[in-house]
This record gives sequence, C-alpha cells and structure tokens, in this order.
Amino acid sequence: MSQNLQDLYRKVVLEHNRNPRNFGALENFTHHAKGNNPLCGDCVELFLQVEGNEVQQVGFEGEGCAICNASSSLLTEAIQGQSLQQVHSLHQRFEQMLAGEFSAQDEQELGPLLVFTGLADFPARLKCATLAWRTLQAALENSEAPVSTES
Ligand code: ZN
Repeated sequence: MSQNLQDLYRKVVLEHNRNPRNFGALENFTHHAKGNNPLCGDCVELFLQVEGNEVQQVGFEGEGCAICNASSSLLTEAIQGQSLQQVHSLHQRFEQMLAGEFSAQDEQELGPLLVFTGLADFPARLKCATLAWRTLQAALENSEAPVSTES
C-alpha cells in the first residue's frame, strides 16, 4: 500500500475515533448486544432498530482504542438502511479483507471500510476491528451471551 494511502486511512480512523458517528444508545431498539476484547480492553455495545428486513437505526456505546472506536463508528454508517442479507454479506467481506483476501468488486462494496485493509499486517489489532462486527452478529442472532473475542 502506498504511503499516501496509509496516511489517508490513518486520518479517517483518527477522525472517526475523535468524532464517532451514531454514538449513544437508541431509545427504542429491537436488537442489542455487548462485546469485549480483553486483549486490548475494548468494549462495545450495539443497539439496532430492525424493521421488516432492514436496519432502520443503529447506535453504539463503549470505550476502546482508536481502531475499535473507528470500526464501530464506520459499521454504524455502513449498515444503516441495509437489508439483513446485505449486512451479513458486508460482514463476510470485511473479515475476508482483514485476512488479506478481496477483489476489486469487494472493494466497491466495502467502501470506507477499506481503511482497515492495512491491519492485515498487524494481526494483534485485528480483533479491535472485528469486535463491533462480531457484536453486531450476536445482536442480530439475538444471542444474550456477551461476546468475547477470546473464544
Ligand atoms: Zn483495541
């Protein structure tokens, strides 16, 4: 990856960390889950309002490192207004991207989530980026068990 692109990605992550989107619990929600990543001390709590088959609203709370906060913030923007199938497919692409596997078509679907591509080189930080997505999955599966990236 070029130095310029890395700098741009770093700026986007830091900007979302400073100014997270959709931060705060929802008053009305249909799905909810909490996750934590003990390796880094990241905690995230997701609130979703799903109507029919579509994510109408999403909010998050929690405290984590810059990567975790930015990933949660970008997740909320990425899934709002999407169908559950699209959300599932996006999650799969996101995890594949972190494993270093993605095509040009995936890039288009991932959009701003591409800022985490560089993390493939920092395996210790991958869980910081995936925590929000794993928590989302738990919320949608309506699992009451807290998510831990250790398992
Ligand atoms: Zn972290």
